Amino acid sequence: MKAKLLRNGLLIDGTGRDGQTGADVLIEDDKITAIGSNLSIPDKYQPEDIDIIELNGKTIMPGMTEAHTHLTWHDALYIQDIDFKPIEETMVSAIKNAETMIKSGFTSCVSAAARGRVDIAIRDAINRGEIIGPRMLANGAEVSATGGFVDLQPNHVRVHGLAIFADGEDAVRRTVRSLFKEGADLVKLNVSGESLSAHARGEMTLYTLKEVRAAVEEAHARGKRIYTHARSSDSVKICVEAGVDIISHADFINDEVFEMVVENKERLFIVPGLNWLVSTIEHGAEYFGQEAIDATGYKEGLEYALYNMNRLYKAGVRVLPGGDYGFKWCPHGGYARDLEHFVKLVGMTPMDAIVAATKYGSQIMQMEDETGTIEIGKLADVVVVDGNPLENITILQDHSKLKVILKGGNYIVNHLDVAHTAARTVA
Ligand SMILES: [Zn+2]
Repeated sequence: MKAKLLRNGLLIDGTGRDGQTGADVLIEDDKITAIGSNLSIPDKYQPEDIDIIELNGKTIMPGMTEAHTHLTWHDALYIQDIDFKPIEETMVSAIKNAETMIKSGFTSCVSAAARGRVDIAIRDAINRGEIIGPRMLANGAEVSATGGFVDLQPNHVRVHGLAIFADGEDAVRRTVRSLFKEGADLVKLNVSGESLSAHARGEMTLYTLKEVRAAVEEAHARGKRIYTHARSSDSVKICVEAGVDIISHADFINDEVFEMVVENKERLFIVPGLNWLVSTIEHGAEYFGQEAIDATGYKEGLEYALYNMNRLYKAGVRVLPGGDYGFKWCPHGGYARDLEHFVKLVGMTPMDAIVAATKYGSQIMQMEDETGTIEIGKLADVVVVDGNPLENITILQDHSKLKVILKGGNYIVNHLDVAHTAARTVA
């Protein structure tokens, strides 16, 4: 692979340090090997061995992580469409979505459930270099209690869809074991309901502490983790007590549970999935009518979520972007909207929203030593943005502004001119 020298950028390195102007970044093989101003080209390189890219002040930042991903949700109108879509078509959509994700500047993702073994097959194909996509932690079918919010089919027709139903400790244990046997990195457990389903609302807690603890025991015995859907305060309390690793939503937590989360902030990740709420409130009525959207209580739910994410953020809890993309009104490709919500609705600084998407992203990926920041020795997962996201966080949503995307030093996207010669002296 050719070496690459990115010259004269605004470096936002993902550590939280102030942006550095006039920064050069040298990439050799798959790693970042030098950072500075007016870096000289190593003598060992002939002109044809190195690409020199003049950035003229454009931003250099780490690739981002999407922490609540469903590659197998195909921008569907109804969740039932996801449940019933034949697995072969689902696979094709998911391959396309993986490419969309990395071309959106997200070089890593944490799956929050998938149909069948699709995530696992896609993760492995990406790692073998057969298809284009982000670094990925794969998930399997959602594990849910009977009557949970993804229990979408009447009993007399229920077939294997987006969820596996498991009730009681033994059944949960067996299901979690079988998903890890298939090669999942994480198993998703639906501990609360979700208010788009009238029979299992977000305020309802649908798994017991014993059931969740059984899942966590099985995961941790294998060095793996449990990812939960938990909106109600009681469901989050159960997750923290059971030792769950990643909690999504956590909207309705009360003061007691807030304190419990803060006490466990060194090990916990919170992924609120804000764009699901915001987009459903904004656009849901176009598809389902205002009455149906009002009935979800999402407007009130969003207020709770924002209040709690603000206080979790202020208390130093890692709150990560990841927005349940994959529905008609919140389609794949819009992932960076969550960073906008973090800034405009949660009250994060733009720098902290970027740190959440990059440095914390590498931590939830368990790749902290390899990705997440632009530092010497790290893998070159790099995005060049035409503009300054510290001044305008929404430019990360504009794919035409993402001029270069590198994964491990390989071009995924490059819209800038490449030169091979430049002044070889240090200025
Ligand atoms: Zn989800």
